[in-house]
Amino acid sequence: MKRIIFLGPPGAGKGTQAKIISELYSIPHISTGDILRAAVQDQTSLGQKAQNFMDSGELVPDELILDLIKERLQETDALDGWILDGFPRNVSQAEFLDKLLTELSLTADYVINLEVPDEVLVERLLERKRKDDNESTIRRRLEIYHQDTVPVISYYTDSGLLKAVNGNLEMKEVTSSLQTVVNQ
Ligand code: ADP
Repeated sequence: MKRIIFLGPPGAGKGTQAKIISELYSIPHISTGDILRAAVQDQTSLGQKAQNFMDSGELVPDELILDLIKERLQETDALDGWILDGFPRNVSQAEFLDKLLTELSLTADYVINLEVPDEVLVERLLERKRKDDNESTIRRRLEIYHQDTVPVISYYTDSGLLKAVNGNLEMKEVTSSLQTVVNQ
């Protein structure tokens, strides 16, 4: 069974790698960023509430995301594993996920942190040119990452689950390091 929590800063290449891992192991790629972007695109009520936060590089409030994850993890395609990308993004989301998994009698099998230095991230994000990728939101996203998401790394280090993978290598090498971890 593969239940993978995939952590890493914005621009680390999580989305790309998570998609590859999802295909290699036939597990759904659950990306809160993708779900939120689709909601914004479709102008659903979730999308309307989330849009300003996303455009300015802030996290959307937990209450917009927690129920959504709870439901998504119980969908049929997610019963035999998943790779979670972009969640948990802060310690309260990590605690929520812990409680949810306990309720569902599940555990995460791997928590992987994809490591890339900040200066490389800024360069990559500026090249990517997504709608929310301008210099000021990029800086804000990195600030929020250090403030809210880095503590999640310590949270999982304490629980002994965390594995680090170097994301500052060629894409194929990153994939193969990830496979090495996930095959353990
Ligand atoms: P990146 O990897 O560049 O940070 P994501 O696609 O993961 O981009 O997320 C894009 C935006 O969606 C974030 O900047 C944030 O506003 C919002 N978002 C995604 N996941 C979460 C989450 N778990 N909690 C709060 N906000 C989130």
